[in-house]
Formats: sequence, C-alpha cells, structure tokens
Amino acid sequence: MNRFNVNKNKCKGCGLCPRVCPKKILRMGDNMNDVGNRYVECIDDDKCIMCCMCATMCPDWAISICDPRENKILFESERS
Ligand code: SF4
Ligand code: SF4
Repeated sequence: MNRFNVNKNKCKGCGLCPRVCPKKILRMGDNMNDVGNRYVECIDDDKCIMCCMCATMCPDWAISICDPRENKILFESERS
C-alpha cells in the first residue's frame, strides 16, 4: 500500500499539490492520462509524512492518502 495515491484520470495537472507538499516529493509526470492531461506523481513515497495537505488542496478530489502501518485510509479521493 502506498501512502500517496492519485486517481490519474481525475488529475487535471493543475500543479497545486506539488507546491504545497512540505517534503517536495510530488511532481508533474511526463505521461498523459486518458483525457490528455499530465498527472502528478510521487517520487519517494517513503518520505511522505501523510499530512494530507496535497489531498486537501486538490480541487478535483483526485488524491488518497493511506497509512500502510495501520492499513488505514486517512483521506479518500472521490470515486467517480
Ligand atoms: S501527504 Fe503530505 S507529505 Fe505526503 S505527498 Fe501529500 S503533501 Fe506530501
Ligand atoms: S492538485 Fe489535484 S488536479 Fe492538481 S495536480 Fe494535484 S492531483 Fe492533479
């Protein structure tokens, strides 16, 4: 289970979440999603402190944050 999880087809590539991540582990990837947007990726999931800043800021509810140690979802993206 990853800490940071993005629903890539919900991400519109706005670039907000990489700006707010205190660990600077998010960046816009080079690949396109199904609707032609570049989407965010996490470059070092082990460094994620599960603060949920990224998920809270995302205007499209595209991010889920999980705690693998507790096997728990801390912030769930909208599923649609
Ligand atoms: S939960 Fe916090 S540390 Fe983890 S990717 Fe999101 S903003 Fe960064
Ligand atoms: S804030 Fe949401 S829509 Fe914007 S880049 Fe991050 S995941 Fe994608």
